Amino acid sequence: MCLCIDCGIDTAPKDDRRRRGARTSEWYMVHDRVWAAAGMPPMSMFETKDFLCIGCLEARLGRRLNPDDFTDASINQPDRWSSPRLNARLVGQ
Ligand SMILES: [Zn+2]
Repeated sequence: MCLCIDCGIDTAPKDDRRRRGARTSEWYMVHDRVWAAAGMPPMSMFETKDFLCIGCLEARLGRRLNPDDFTDASINQPDRWSSPRLNARLVGQ
């Protein structure tokens, strides 16, 4: 479980991994400058406890995310478990 600290949505629901979820998974990594611009501490895949969903990150930034905001991490591949809006941002939609 990984709750968005702004809205409380679970960004990594187990049901999505079992392919029966509502596809709300938003597990991604953005560049430090993007995270910092949102007022967040440096991101680490293993230590980050504070997480934001796509909607709340965009609200903090005041703009829509685009592919350049995401790192080359393997978790940043659009996949069938991720939320439609995360998949869309990863490919520039
Ligand atoms: Zn949120």
